[in-house]
This record gives sequence, structure tokens and C-alpha cells, in this order.
Amino acid sequence: MAKYMCMDTIRFVLHEMLQVEQLCELPRFKDYDKDSFDLLLDSIKTFGDQVMHPTLKEMDSDPARYEDGKIIVHPVVGEQMKTSGENGWIGISFDYEHGGMQLPYTIHAANSFIMQAANNHLPPYSGLTEGSAHLITTFGSQELIDYYVPNMLSGKWGGTMCLTEPQAGSSLSDITTAAVPNEDGSYNITGQKIFITAGDHEYVENIAHLVLARIEGAPLGTKGISLFVVPKKRSGDNGNLISNDVITAGDFQKMGQRGSCTTHLSFGEKGDCKGWLVGAPNKGLKYMFQMMNGARIDVGITGASIATAAYYASLQYAKERPQGRRIQSGGNKNVDKDQTTIINHPDVRRMLFLQKAVTEGATALIFQAAHYHDLSTAGPEEDRERNHNLLELLTPIVKTYPSEMGRVSISNGLQVLGGYGFCTEFPLEQYYRDVRITAIYEGTTGIQSLDLLGRKVVMKNGEAMKQLTAEVIGAIKAASNYDDLKPYAEQLKTASKTLEATIMHLLGYAMKGDHERYIADATLFMEMMSNVVIAWQWLKLATTAKTAMITGNNTYDTAFYESKIHTMKFFYKYELPKINSLKESLMHPDSLTILEEANVELA
Ligand SMILES: Cc1cc2nc3c(=O)[nH]c(=O)nc-3n(C[C@H](O)[C@H](O)[C@H](O)COP(=O)(O)OP(=O)(O)OC[C@H]3O[C@@H](n4cnc5c(N)ncnc54)[C@H](O)[C@@H]3O)c2cc1C
Repeated sequence: MAKYMCMDTIRFVLHEMLQVEQLCELPRFKDYDKDSFDLLLDSIKTFGDQVMHPTLKEMDSDPARYEDGKIIVHPVVGEQMKTSGENGWIGISFDYEHGGMQLPYTIHAANSFIMQAANNHLPPYSGLTEGSAHLITTFGSQELIDYYVPNMLSGKWGGTMCLTEPQAGSSLSDITTAAVPNEDGSYNITGQKIFITAGDHEYVENIAHLVLARIEGAPLGTKGISLFVVPKKRSGDNGNLISNDVITAGDFQKMGQRGSCTTHLSFGEKGDCKGWLVGAPNKGLKYMFQMMNGARIDVGITGASIATAAYYASLQYAKERPQGRRIQSGGNKNVDKDQTTIINHPDVRRMLFLQKAVTEGATALIFQAAHYHDLSTAGPEEDRERNHNLLELLTPIVKTYPSEMGRVSISNGLQVLGGYGFCTEFPLEQYYRDVRITAIYEGTTGIQSLDLLGRKVVMKNGEAMKQLTAEVIGAIKAASNYDDLKPYAEQLKTASKTLEATIMHLLGYAMKGDHERYIADATLFMEMMSNVVIAWQWLKLATTAKTAMITGNNTYDTAFYESKIHTMKFFYKYELPKINSLKESLMHPDSLTILEEANVELA
């Protein structure tokens, strides 16, 4: 089977860079050790190899669809839900008391990465089940927990998140789905939800939809949104499951991730759809953010893992494809000489290194963020807030960088294959289509960028930003212990100052009350800050590799560590300098996109 990811790279980040096994010293994870982490990840990889990856192409060519009032999906969905349930993977990071394995979230992230790299069409089914069950355990009543969670973690029932409506996508304040209280404590639900991933299929007995709706008379806007669990089937009088008037009206046909169904659900067309309130009224959006933050990290994982699979596909092709002759050996005039394989051409190497730099840098960032999550929930009390702040600040970047740069990376991979990259016979064109959604769902890149610059950078009076800077300085100091890493440490120091100066410049607009100008180019700012953040991760990776080589405490061979250091150098030469042109645009005096300031017709 073709290689679609590198377990050694995952282990290198987890064990050598993050030393994730130290989490086992915390009471919550005391039952685990390095070997148990590895064993679990190896078994997931085996499932990926044997079941998930072989169905990737079929799920694209035989997509989920709506037929005779039903959603048809690939039967492997049933196998994935069953195996994930039986092996405890759906409840991998849940508390023991809720039937979970109580593993670190970092291990959950690695599990998700392996599955997504194997076949990105499948994990949404189990992933959304996990996310919605987690919402119920955190905010739901004991009755709701007892009824839903065991069925969901076992993979017998599925779960979804139902936010989007035809008129309310990015702007959830415009949600109109209605909830009217009944005397028995339930609510009558009516409304339309669109684009609902894993919204309906035959491989689970029931589906718990986590629905945002407005209780009759609730305040307008986000302050009046509540969260409900609305099952596809509810318990009838004798305890058997009966229809709950949740109608599947269709399935959206998509350019990518075609095996993951994307449904249009209609609630209460016959006036008989019941939902149960999760937590307190009008707090729904706040609760849903817990699931959305987890889902945002998962989307980052999707982007990074699809791009990783694409990297290995283009790397293999480049090693096998003979084309042209190296300039060094006389170029194509020397037709008497054999052609070289394209991996030897500098421009092809540049494209491959770009893929490696983007995917491994993104992977490191994802696990770093997941590690902050573990420390913020189970780490020493005095450090929890700091770790939480770092996670909050980084989440929009964790979602966006792998999505946006994952696409660029795959485009380069497709280019490595030349004409074959464009053809369905090779997997690159599918990966290119599959990754495209990651910049859209769970909040578009535009919305993530508004969140980063508008909320996160300034949160708690800039405290989170200061804490991130301290982390970056720590990495710079560690790298400076090695003479050959010092120039890169210096470059990151300068980049960090450039970022700070840009923030100060933009804050000038906010302080003058010109909030639209402050935020107008937030997407450029996202690109700039992401670049600095990934450079920080690459410096950490390179320092880790250098330390392993120097101390002789090495798990892998020298070539493995050297390739990490070399890829860091690539990132610092080709990617990091882009922040200077971004700074120029961000600090440019002209305002060309704000309606009142440049009211030019777009025709
Ligand atoms: C395959 C797929 C699966 C999905 N799964 C789910 C799911 O499971 N559950 C669910 O609830 N939803 C789901 N969605 C919906 C998804 O989250 C939305 O499509 C997304 O949030 C964008 O909303 P929209 O499509 O209405 O676009 P719009 O909100 O109309 O946005 C259109 C464009 O305008 C920009 N824009 C909008 N508002 C602003 C603003 N204030 N400032 C600057 N720019 C702005 C956006 O960035 C975007 O570029 C899914 C969508 C797809 C395609």
C-alpha cells in the first residue's frame, strides 16, 4: 500500500518534542505510559491501513446521496462506527465515569490525524458523535447523559451539530429554529438546518442532533440561543424508538469529501418533533463553542492530514518518474545519458520541501495546541489558566493554517505530478478537492481571522499574546545553545518583533475607534501570525532533532533528524520572509476595501 503518513514523525513530535508521556505523571492519566500510547496509535494505524485507506477512492467515486427519502452512504461507515465504538476510540478522551478511556487529548489528536490521513471521508461520522456526546456530558442533565452517552460512545447512535440555517451561516445571531416548551419538560422544535454533516444514514440506530434554537420570547441575537438535543427517534410509550419528526430533505452534492454526507434536515414539519434543553436557556451558543473549538482543532487536523497524504503520494511519484537531465550533467543536450528522476530537479525538490515544511509544521502546531489543552484541564492548577489562554489564542491558527496552506501544499504536490496530477488515476486531484472544504466549515478563514485579531490577540488585555511571546522566547533561547541554529533563532526574534510592531500599528486604528479599519485585513494578519507561529514550531522541531543527535539519545537515524533541521532551514528561507510583504500591506496607508473609504463599483 502507498504510504499516506509517517508514524515516526508523529512519534517524534509526541515523544521527543512534547514529551507527552510526562502527562502520565498527572493523576488523570496515571494509568498510561509511553508504550500504551504507542500501542493504541499502532492499532489505529492498522485499522487505517486495512479498512479506511482502501475505501478512500470508492467513497469519492460513489458518494453519499439522497434516494427515495433516504441517505445512502458507503457501508464502511458502519464498520468505522462499530470498530471505533468497540475499541473505545469514540470516547478516547472522555472521563472513566462516562465510559471513556480518559486518555490525553493529545493522543485523541494523534488518533484523529491517523484516521483523517487514511480516509478523510470517514472520521466526521465518529468525530461528530464524540463532539456531541461531549457537549451532553459537560452541560446536560444526568438523565440526558445516562440516556444518550453510552449509546453514542459505543457507536450504536450517531451525533451531529446543527447550527447552520439557510439565512444563518457565519452569523449565528440570525438563527430562527424555534423551541416551544411542553408541560412534560420537553420542547416542540420547528425549523430548517442545512449542511449537516453525518445528519442521516442507516448504519446507526439513532442520531442525537445537537440543535441551536430560540425559545419562544427569547432575546434577539446570540443572547437568545439555546441548545437542545433532538433525536432522530425518541422513546415511545413502551420504551421502543419511534420517529421524532426529523425529516431528511436532501443531501448536498459536493466537490470533495463526497463520502461524508451533508444533509438538509427539517425539524417538526408535522408538529411532532421533541427536543430536550441542554443546560440553561439562552446559553446555547456559549456551550456550542466548546464543541466548535474542538471541531476547529479537528478541522486543522483534517487539513494537515490530507496534505500529508498528498505529500507522500507526490514524493513517491517524484522518486519514480524519469524526466529530463540535470543541468549539472549537461542538461537535455546529453540525450545519450539516461533521464534523471524528477526528484533530482531543484524546482521539484522545492515543491516537495514546501509540502514537508507545511505539513510537518502544521502537525507540530496541532499537537502543541492539544498538549496545551491537556495541561489546561489536567495540569498543575497554577498553570491551567496560562495553558488555556495559549490554546484559545492558537485555536483560530490551528484551524486556518493547515486549511489554507494545506491547499497550497497539495497544489504543489499536484504540480509535482505534472499532467498526471490533474488525472483521476492519481490521488492528488482528489486530495486537492477534499481539502478545500477545511477553509470553509467550522467558521471560514475570514471569520477565524476576525476572531484572531478582533478577540484573541487583545483578550485579557493582551495577556495571551504575552504568554505566547514568552513561549517563543523560550524556544529561541533553547535553539541558541547550538551555534548552527543561532541564525534561525535570531531570525525568529526579528520576525516576532515585526509581528508585534504590526499589532501595535493596527491597534492604533482601534484606539481611534476605527474598528472596521483595524479588522479590514484580518486575513492578511492571520497569514502573517501563522507564519511566525509555524516558524516557532519549526525551531522547536530542529532544536529537538539537534539535541537528540548531540546527546546520542536518539530513537531515529541521523538522516531522519537532519531532514528535520534541513526542512526548518527551508521554512526560514522560503516561507518566513513572507511576513515582511504582509507587514507592508497591513501597514499601508491606503484603505482600498472599506466601502465608505473606497466606494468604487465592483463591476
Ligand atoms: C461540507 C459542509 C459541511 C458542513 N457541516 C456543517 C455541520 O455539520 N453543521 C453545521 O451547522 N454547519 C455545517 N456546515 C456549514 C458551514 O459551517 C457554513 O457553510 C460556514 O459556516 C459558512 O456559512 P455560509 O455557507 O452561510 O457562508 P456565509 O456566512 O454566507 O459566508 C460567505 C462569505 O462571506 C464571508 N463573511 C460572512 N460574514 C462575514 C463577516 N461578518 N465579515 C467578513 N466576512 C464575512 C465568509 O467568510 C465567506 O467567505 C457545513 C458546510 C459544508 C459545505
